Amino acid sequence: MGERKRDSDRKLGRRALLVGGAVAAVGTAALAREELAHLWWRLPGVEKPRVAGAVDFRGARWVAASSANYRRADRPADYSIDRVVVHVTQGGYRSAVQVFQDPGHGAASHYIVRKDGRITQLVRELDVAFHAGNREYNERSVGIEHEGFVERASSFTDEMYAASARLTAAICGRYGIPVDRKHIIGHVEVPGTDHTDPGRHWDWDRYLRLVRETSTDRPKASASAV
Ligand SMILES: [Zn+2]
Repeated sequence: MGERKRDSDRKLGRRALLVGGAVAAVGTAALAREELAHLWWRLPGVEKPRVAGAVDFRGARWVAASSANYRRADRPADYSIDRVVVHVTQGGYRSAVQVFQDPGHGAASHYIVRKDGRITQLVRELDVAFHAGNREYNERSVGIEHEGFVERASSFTDEMYAASARLTAAICGRYGIPVDRKHIIGHVEVPGTDHTDPGRHWDWDRYLRLVRETSTDRPKASASAV
């Protein structure tokens, strides 16, 4: 589950000031290249066009999280994405959607995978969802919640593993993320967290194998079509 504590943007004030017209006064030389890259999405007219209800994974159903539970960004242009973070909701699908739509919750993930394999997207991948309880990890990752409970092995169904592996394989393919345990991690492995998900019943070997199989399972171009 996402961190309850609000993952607010501590640089917001300074960035807003700079975008408000102080850039020229400060002098662009004074700004690190990285800082500029993080600034540009706030400038009018440079944001990527967004289509209402669009999803990043074919077949996912769109249900918008509250805009208070993520930060608009333009990944991977402003922040590169090199991690997938696996979560468990500690509850049912409905309650997970409910809290992610609650502006007071302060957290949301990009996706929820249900027991039957259905996938819901709540935050676009280009945006920074507050799911890891660690600002840097939020900025560099895509968060996937899984319906269920860490202490119940029965939460993690074949359909869930298969669907989640397809989703993670697609994310890794899009951003060039290596399919290994350094880059596909549990919430428990995020520095500074006190969360334990996905817990001991989550089968990492099985999951990574499925992700790898899906990654290499792309249809090959037939010789006659060349
Ligand atoms: Zn979590």
